[in-house]
Amino acid sequence: MESVERKMDQIGRVVIPRHMRTAYGIDGEGTDVELIPMKDGILIRQLKPSCLVCKSEDNLISYRDRYICEECLKGFNEQDK
Ligand SMILES: [Zn+2]
Repeated sequence: MESVERKMDQIGRVVIPRHMRTAYGIDGEGTDVELIPMKDGILIRQLKPSCLVCKSEDNLISYRDRYICEECLKGFNEQDK
């Protein structure tokens, strides 16, 4: 896919072209995205669920729209003993 150029508006908004949003799964209104600072720019990607403690994206358990990984949950449970 080729790069595109866009102008930013007064408050920092930039429109991501539809074909790019579709290709990367960020095309639904209200889709959460993550802005990741990189060495020479900003990476925009769909926000993936991650553990609220260690940020791992593996072995997640959801609770009230938040996620925790099995390892951290095990850590909490062992702390109670
Ligand atoms: Zn964790």
